[in-house]
Amino acid sequence: MTHYDYLIVGSGLFGSVFAERAAANGKKCLVIDRRNHIGGNIYTCVKDGINIHRYGAHIFHTSDKEVWEYVLHFAEFIPFINSPIAIYKDEVYNMPFNMNTFSRMWGIKTPSEAKAIIDRQRGKIVEIDNLEKQAISLVGKDIYEKLVKGYTEKQWGRPCSELPPEIIKRLPVRFTYDNNYFRDPYQGIPKDGYTPIIEKLLASADVQLGVDFNKDRDNLRKIAKKVLYTGAIDELFDYSLGRLEYRSVRFEDERIETDNFQGVAVVNYTSADVPYTRIIEHKHFEKTDSPVTWISREYPEEFEKSGEPYYPINNEKNTELYKKYRVLADDCSWLILGGRLAQYSYFDMDKIIRASLDLADSQNN
Ligand code: FAD
Repeated sequence: MTHYDYLIVGSGLFGSVFAERAAANGKKCLVIDRRNHIGGNIYTCVKDGINIHRYGAHIFHTSDKEVWEYVLHFAEFIPFINSPIAIYKDEVYNMPFNMNTFSRMWGIKTPSEAKAIIDRQRGKIVEIDNLEKQAISLVGKDIYEKLVKGYTEKQWGRPCSELPPEIIKRLPVRFTYDNNYFRDPYQGIPKDGYTPIIEKLLASADVQLGVDFNKDRDNLRKIAKKVLYTGAIDELFDYSLGRLEYRSVRFEDERIETDNFQGVAVVNYTSADVPYTRIIEHKHFEKTDSPVTWISREYPEEFEKSGEPYYPINNEKNTELYKKYRVLADDCSWLILGGRLAQYSYFDMDKIIRASLDLADSQNN
């Protein structure tokens, strides 16, 4: 029997924003998640008074004023400018690549000196057909060797010469002394973490945790007029056309008896001999005053090992496979797809909110 207007599969940001909008339009929603907590990958929990970003550092940044005003209804944000550090052996550099990085690398002072060195190191690359050539043409050989190569090869598990150039096309490179990673005018961290935002978004919906849609699909889909599915699209069709590929990450947390471990929220470890890519020290996001600290080391992993899909591998083969699954999905009149897994794409949080708001609007027209 149909009890709900929408069954929303996944209590991540996409599903939760949709639930909030649907409820505001008088619709009844049931939100299910197979995890034992709400929030999907933006879930935060509190340890020693510090908000821990359970699935990797999440910094909110957007140029979309409407999205920014929307999130401000659900949280107070602390101003936060992401200025990560990169450590290569015993050398420390500012990120993103900017005049502070160039000055430390080459002992120079001016943009024209930096540009001249990069030009010289770029040489005569004609065709940019892999990530290595893309990186060298953007920042020169020294920065590629010390700050890009090891990090990227750990992240993706294969040599830069075999990776597509698109991965680092959006790499910020600046000839100003500016360590602000994002250019967006609205940036911050929610004062109480992300979970309270999700709690507020889901306040008017029924929520059931520990329920896997794909384990009882036929029964579950009958309880609502429509299903918004935010899980993996290949799993929804029992991998009948093959598996989409992902890169995964394992997070290892540690409590340390010091009030300040690394002096900044995000440190990238760029040499190949360090097995992790980043250390996050959570207290620096909110400048929490606590005598102890919590850090998380991020170890990139094969998806087959962890089973947790993080970064879609958007190559030609996977893109073609995804399109075939979309054709199957389009044949299901009861089904709506949304979010990073169902759309097999990486999206920042603001893009997820924008897409979910637009979807909710379109359902009401
Ligand atoms: P998810 O958060 O993955 O939610 C999907 C939910 O569906 C999950 O809870 C899952 O358990 C549930 N689910 C799946 N299948 C089923 C099923 N069969 N039955 C029941 N439930 C199911 N964005 C930023 O803007 N800034 C950042 O700094 C940032 N950092 C990031 C760092 C990392 C390491 C990663 C991986 C992403 C980062 N992002 C960041 C992106 C951000 O995490 C996403 O935009 C956002 O989490 C996507 O929300 P979603 O609802 O689409 O997916």
